[in-house]
Amino acid sequence: MDSSKKIQIPVAYRASILHFLSDPGAGNGASATEFFEDGILLIENGLVAELGPADKLVNKLPKDIPVKDYTGKLIIPGLIDAHIHYPQTDMIASHGEQLLEWLNKYTFPTEGKFEDQEYAEEVAAFFIDELLRNGITTALVLATVHPGSVDAIFAASMARNMRMLAGKVMMDRNAPEYLLDTPESSFHESKALLEKWHKVDRLLYAITPRFAPTSTDEQLKQAANLAKEYTDAYIHTHVAENKKEVKWVAELFPWSRSYLDVYDHFGLLRERSVYAHCIHLDEQDRKRMAQTGAAAAFCPTSNTFLGSGLFNCVGALDQDIRVAVATDVGAGTSFGMLQTLSEAYKVQQLIGQKLSPLRALFLATLGNARALYLDDRIGNFLPGKEADFIVLNDEATPLIKRRMAVTDKIEEKIFIYIMLGDDRVVDSTYIMGECAYRAI
Ligand SMILES: [Zn+2]
Repeated sequence: MDSSKKIQIPVAYRASILHFLSDPGAGNGASATEFFEDGILLIENGLVAELGPADKLVNKLPKDIPVKDYTGKLIIPGLIDAHIHYPQTDMIASHGEQLLEWLNKYTFPTEGKFEDQEYAEEVAAFFIDELLRNGITTALVLATVHPGSVDAIFAASMARNMRMLAGKVMMDRNAPEYLLDTPESSFHESKALLEKWHKVDRLLYAITPRFAPTSTDEQLKQAANLAKEYTDAYIHTHVAENKKEVKWVAELFPWSRSYLDVYDHFGLLRERSVYAHCIHLDEQDRKRMAQTGAAAAFCPTSNTFLGSGLFNCVGALDQDIRVAVATDVGAGTSFGMLQTLSEAYKVQQLIGQKLSPLRALFLATLGNARALYLDDRIGNFLPGKEADFIVLNDEATPLIKRRMAVTDKIEEKIFIYIMLGDDRVVDSTYIMGECAYRAI
């Protein structure tokens, strides 16, 4: 399916509409946010054609244009998840461990099942449906070491015409034999998948060493070789999540200045690289993140679930690091970005930082698009952007309805969505202007 050739009839959507032009937390609050209490979003051929107040736009619309009326509901850009493991769908909510034990006890046996292509395809299809139910229209996804697991997630994403990023896990040591590749096989398999899927329709490939402890120097070199050959491909991995892990990396790479320095040494810090967690970085590491244009993916439900630590999200933003927010399912405890933002707010409270409601929602939309270098395509409703958007229902539960009725301020309503909302508030999810999910 070539989405660019699909012609759609223009459709106007009428609702309250909110999106961001920049980071509302960076001292430019008023100009960063655009909100229309009664707005029109005009979609043409899967792209945003126009956005504005209904009283001005409604009379300008050609008479035969259908108007889909969502009055009383809120339209926002599709949510973006910047770090998630689709193979861990069946092990979300596994009790009792911290990172390294959790990997051995739950993760590796679960990922071993992806040798079975039929299983991979079934999980991929469920996973995509679950994203859409949660209003997530783009995600950066880890598969497993099996090339077929990448085919499965890309095929499922393509069937829904989603802008998705994914890659084969590269892992050549410190994991069970049945999950290991080699530096050479991981290079060739990743390259073949990259050639097959990168930039096909809306899909993008991410070179994905799992994390430094499961890759030899030689494998990290091969990952960097691929990254140099394909500069517009992504790099996706984990760093500095757990203290025991950080100590282990220091033992495995005795020459390194820090955990992040291992990746830096091999040339893996660059634009379009995404590092999940970044909790235990030092000042020099943070400078390198900002200098190189790498992104830090903040995964608050995972970080509290595994007892990993508290990421200073506001501090990282202040240091001009590209910060993304992410669920990190299956260590993350929800597919929902609203619940993820709720936990993000609480983690910032615990370290004496304040994450404002609008800044939080910015992060899950335009902020994540920026962190992924996709803000020219997605993240807000500027004309020409790909029309991925969701419709939120502020009467989804009795409590939410009651609490919403007490305020008419959009900032307060967003905070209520974040604190009380989950998949139930997602009324509809649109991909390139086509409805991909609607709550019954
Ligand atoms: Zn992860």
